[in-house]
Amino acid sequence: MPYPVEAPVSQSLFDRADRVTPGGVNSPVRAFRAVGGTPRFMVSGSGPWLTDADGREYVDLVCSWGPMILGHSHPAVIEAVQAAVARGTSFGTPGEGEVELAEEIVARIAPVEQVRLVSSGTEATMSAIRLARGFTGRAKVVKFAGCYHGHVDALLASAGSGVATFGLPDTPGVTGAQAGETLVLPYNDLDAVRAAFAAHPGEIACVITEASPGNMGVVPPGEGFNAGLKQICSDNGALFVSDEVMTGFRVSQAGWYGIDGVAPDLMTFGKVMGGGFPAAAFGGRADVMAHLAPAGPVYQAGTLSGNPVATAAGVAQLRQLDATAYERVDAAADAVRALTAEALEKAGVAHSLQSAGNMFSVFFTPDGAPVTDYASAKTQEAYRFTPFFHSMLADGVYLPPSAFESWFVSAAHDERAIERVAAALPAAARAAAQAEPA
Ligand code: PLP
Repeated sequence: MPYPVEAPVSQSLFDRADRVTPGGVNSPVRAFRAVGGTPRFMVSGSGPWLTDADGREYVDLVCSWGPMILGHSHPAVIEAVQAAVARGTSFGTPGEGEVELAEEIVARIAPVEQVRLVSSGTEATMSAIRLARGFTGRAKVVKFAGCYHGHVDALLASAGSGVATFGLPDTPGVTGAQAGETLVLPYNDLDAVRAAFAAHPGEIACVITEASPGNMGVVPPGEGFNAGLKQICSDNGALFVSDEVMTGFRVSQAGWYGIDGVAPDLMTFGKVMGGGFPAAAFGGRADVMAHLAPAGPVYQAGTLSGNPVATAAGVAQLRQLDATAYERVDAAADAVRALTAEALEKAGVAHSLQSAGNMFSVFFTPDGAPVTDYASAKTQEAYRFTPFFHSMLADGVYLPPSAFESWFVSAAHDERAIERVAAALPAAARAAAQAEPA
């Protein structure tokens, strides 16, 4: 299809990138393959705004896939980073910043008694799974179809995010042995979980779930689902691992745990807690965490874990996130949601707009049927998203370039930003209405 706006400088950067980097990007969804056209190379960000290499300005509804909850270039975060950089960028020794960040996490999330810092969400979930296996002495892991926990070999089976965007059933390079201990079950189906435990008595180390999934689009847990998982795990001597890499410190001060109050044995974090830098974490019950080296036998390490610049950014961002900041994020989410629903309804586009706190996404499902799991997510008419996305982009709104991703707003999304979104939506909704299957 012809794309409404050319981006010559981004295109020439993409051509250069493509020669030296597979597909021209360092993380697949950035390549725009699901929507086509030229990925925008961004050069700067301020508050809710991003500016691309062609000098065009966008309201950012991706927020770096979640981390930028205060908006871009927040003065307190920038100041903390500059001060940290001036002191040195990495020491390979313990430092006070790590203690501060760990204390901030433990203070906010009651089930986290101890926490270990790592550099990415992938590392956090990989390490949590290893710890769960080491602690229980069991091998099998239950995950849910459509949940994405990073590109951990054992957890890529039926994952969401880019794996959903590209319709990949699985990925080459993951061996049968690596994935063979993973049981993939339908989301929101406690009977399937009970059946898995009955079929594999004493073999399941843990159940890992996104606290509220955002990687197949936003599909919140049904009433009692997380509580049911916790109960089944504790009845069967397995650990309940809640992945809050996306929801943690975003949907409330205590993440999704702050909303549903179900206490996991282990939790994983990333995104918001790093303030835009590579910092992530896993933590939970002290008796489980005590099995981690050097306190215990389960090995886990990292040259840049607890990096002083990343921890300074994370601490500064978390300290800005008071009740007022969350009110602003929630209000921005409410505004964008209401405008989106209104535009789609006016244009007669069937859809299901789904939320988990201030995270939300639109599914173009026939008759607007609600999405409760990965199978129902895949019934959406994703072809409607492509012209919708490009119309928004042409009118200065940067959406996630996939129909299977959450939209994110920040505390910096002010009236001017919301007005830009409001102005862009009607044409995008009409484009979605007129879309034909490829
Ligand atoms: N877990 C969840 C729920 C995520 O959304 C992501 C990333 O999107 C990850 C884990 C992996 O985090 P990272 O991309 O930092 O490795």
